[in-house]
Amino acid sequence: MAQLLSGRDAAQAWKTHIRKEVAGRLAQGKRAPHLAAILVGEDPASQAYVKGKVRDCEEVGFGSTLIALPEQTTQVELLKHVADLNKNPEIDGFIVQLPLPKHLNPDEILLTIDPLKDVDGFHPENVGRMALGLPTYLPATPYGMLLLLEHYGISPSGKNAVVVGRSNIVGSPMSILLSRNSKMGNATVTLAHSKTTNLEAICQSADLLVAAIGRPKFIKASMVRPGAIVLDVGINRVDGKLVGDVDFAEVEPIAEAISPVPGGVGLMTRVGLLMNTLHAARRH
Ligand code: NDP
Repeated sequence: MAQLLSGRDAAQAWKTHIRKEVAGRLAQGKRAPHLAAILVGEDPASQAYVKGKVRDCEEVGFGSTLIALPEQTTQVELLKHVADLNKNPEIDGFIVQLPLPKHLNPDEILLTIDPLKDVDGFHPENVGRMALGLPTYLPATPYGMLLLLEHYGISPSGKNAVVVGRSNIVGSPMSILLSRNSKMGNATVTLAHSKTTNLEAICQSADLLVAAIGRPKFIKASMVRPGAIVLDVGINRVDGKLVGDVDFAEVEPIAEAISPVPGGVGLMTRVGLLMNTLHAARRH
């Protein structure tokens, strides 16, 4: 039986830590960190994600502002909201919930966010800082995975890590973070994708396997070395149920530790955002 890397338990522990940090700030006469989120349109998944983020803020004592804009919001109007948040000294950090409706250009929006308030860590300046190992905001999902590993006392140092999936928000930054010379890095990393040949053998070489593919139950037991640590990023809806990228029933019996879906990495992504907002309040 593998150890369950519970996002629920780890998130609770990290939230307790954050609450204490907020109490410490208040005791020093500083205000609570404040996160704002811009949501455009009616996409139910995005609405649920943003509501979860606002709830998290309440739980840890952060202030939060939700700016819900109609589907037909124009690029110019959205840029104006971003500029207002950039200027607002009461807002430490903010996010623009993605995906945006198709008529809007997310790249232009993300470039307009003040890098000091970019708590999603998507601005090219912050991605560059991350790659160079300079202080910055880390993309929330990879950051959350590192916090999950840290909670369970698992160090990537010296491990062979394989990350499957190279998206800009998950796989690629996770491969960079794991390979950095830092506390939760120092792994030897292979980044695999859809053009990778012999994926099964590469995955089998992993002491730490990260699945960020977007294909339900893609990682089978035959791809996992017995005793490996497996992080499942996938969130796929199959017959109304959430399913990860790892075939949990097959892989769990041979892994040393595995994160479930739901109740794993998804909850830690939200903790990553809270931690970035706390860092933002300190930086301001
Ligand atoms: P993307 O679709 O942007 O990237 C998927 C990656 O998987 C690509 O690099 C792609 O390769 C690779 N891939 C696809 N098929 C294969 C294959 N057959 N073999 C090897 N590699 C393959 O997805 P995201 O990174 O945005 O998300 C991945 C999953 O994680 C999704 O299920 C998403 O819902 C979930 N997610 C979960 C979050 C959380 O908080 N838990 C946060 C963000 C995402 P190529 O580049 O060659 O096309």
